[in-house]
Amino acid sequence: MQELALDIRDLRVSINDGDSSKEILKGINLEVPKGQVHVIMGPNGSGKSTLAHTLMGHPKYSVTGGSVSLYGEDLLSLKVYERARKGLFLAYQYPVEVPGVSLAHFLWNANQSIAQSKQPTGKKDPKAVLAFRKRLNAALENLKMATDFSTRHLNVGASGGEKKRIEIAQMQVLDPRMVLMDEIDSGLDIDSTKVVAQAINAMKKPDFTALIITHYPRILEYLQPDRVHVMAAGKVLCSRGMELARELEQKGYDWILSEYNAS
Ligand code: ADP
Ligand code: MG
Repeated sequence: MQELALDIRDLRVSINDGDSSKEILKGINLEVPKGQVHVIMGPNGSGKSTLAHTLMGHPKYSVTGGSVSLYGEDLLSLKVYERARKGLFLAYQYPVEVPGVSLAHFLWNANQSIAQSKQPTGKKDPKAVLAFRKRLNAALENLKMATDFSTRHLNVGASGGEKKRIEIAQMQVLDPRMVLMDEIDSGLDIDSTKVVAQAINAMKKPDFTALIITHYPRILEYLQPDRVHVMAAGKVLCSRGMELARELEQKGYDWILSEYNAS
């Protein structure tokens, strides 16, 4: 049997909004084998971002049932930084601006934190800063971005498309083994979509697994995902091949919602 990078079973999640709480995910089941690229599509409000944020450990979301394993280890009991150290990475739908912190500074700290957790007693490598700089500059160049983005404050004043590419640059530098990408291609023009897809493709290797949330088959034509899952109303309705993404692009979601009595 294939090793699973991500194994989500009957996951139930509520959102805390002041005193009230509302169930958003109503029993999600999803398996992503190691080394594969999977996609989640679905109408707005299905709970796609809720799923991504819950997997990363956002405090706004409470898990009320079910389990999630990352490479066979329980994920839900881990703190956010522990999840990152285990190689989980989330590229945000709406990246936040962080005034006062440069991209290079932010990433260097994240990079060191991950490196130290892998080798707690490892000696400090004097060439590590240089190697890191090179990696960051190469990532920015691959994404067709000016290298001065590394010294600019994180996402401040960046356009929507630039913010998305900065997310990918971070992913390339940190080299995670399980990435979640929430609408990474929303707001990107055709050329930028291609650049981003190429950057993701360049990361593909046996120990790289991706779960990509998108509305558009365009990026999928470049990425050639192994599986497409459709989410609606807090559940995974069905899981099929790439042809499903094309069909949804042509016909919208109504037909599949009624096929599964989910409308
Ligand atoms: P998607 O990413 O699939 O568009 P979301 O996960 O963002 O869906 O949202 C799922 C549902 O959760 C929606 O119905 C949305 O209105 C609701 N929701 C999201 N954030 C909040 C919040 N802070 N308070 C109440 N409901 C929320
Ligand atoms: Mg969303």
